Amino acid sequence: MLVNAKEILSDARANQYAVPAFDCVEEMVRTMLETAEERRAPVFLMCLLPDLVGNGWAYLPGLIRIAASHHRVPVVLHLDHAMELESIKRAVDAGFTSVMIDGSKLPFEENVRFTKAAVDIAHPRGVSVEAELGHVGGSDLEGSTYGENVLTDPDEVTRFVEQTGVDSLAVSIGTSHGVYKSLPTLSIGRLKQLNHVSPVPLVLHGGSGTPDDQVQEAVRNGICKINIYADIRIAMGRGLHTAAATQLREDPLPQEVFGPMREEISDVVRAKIDLLFAANRA
Ligand SMILES: [Zn+2]
Repeated sequence: MLVNAKEILSDARANQYAVPAFDCVEEMVRTMLETAEERRAPVFLMCLLPDLVGNGWAYLPGLIRIAASHHRVPVVLHLDHAMELESIKRAVDAGFTSVMIDGSKLPFEENVRFTKAAVDIAHPRGVSVEAELGHVGGSDLEGSTYGENVLTDPDEVTRFVEQTGVDSLAVSIGTSHGVYKSLPTLSIGRLKQLNHVSPVPLVLHGGSGTPDDQVQEAVRNGICKINIYADIRIAMGRGLHTAAATQLREDPLPQEVFGPMREEISDVVRAKIDLLFAANRA
């Protein structure tokens, strides 16, 4: 069932688990939803702008909306990292139930104005909004640029949430986007301070590759949604290698080509659900 983010994130906050949030393309949607259903976990399926270009705006959210209506677990259709208000308008019109507006590279006051403008577009249509304060750096996708990490300042949190009206807040506590070159050390002390002052649930970007014990420590201390993509792409690559290494006939069946990828992705999705204490929550 398709839902916005508010209710499931407040349940996560009250019960100290985190909802897994996966960036995806069409080929991953069925595997992710069937695995979430099998584990009875709420889930975010997130779309990135490069995957929405052209017909992507019709195909990807269209597929997720229809598929979500077949499943009993709550599914949030979320736009990840919108950098301009035009994308927020488009997402609301395309039936997204949740959006992220990323003004994290802007100075505080500009981030407030930019985020507030997104909230004014999304809230009248029942769409929840995530924003980012501080900056989660790293490198991820072609065309996306992230700078250096800037840890979130606890003194800014209450003011930011009150002035913007956002529903959740992505914070910077030491994770980075993409694949780590050296393992991160999360600032759990900082997270505790942020969670103590934040009126809304906290979100962690750069969940892939972060050591499991640190992820669980973050969940225990207030993280309610964790974004995961690089680990999914690594699984996809592994599955592709497996398929390519078998003696494919000239006219392979779709299952022979895509099956190993689906299995690898399903294993990662299942492991993340369990890691975040999200199983049997739906
Ligand atoms: Zn992110």
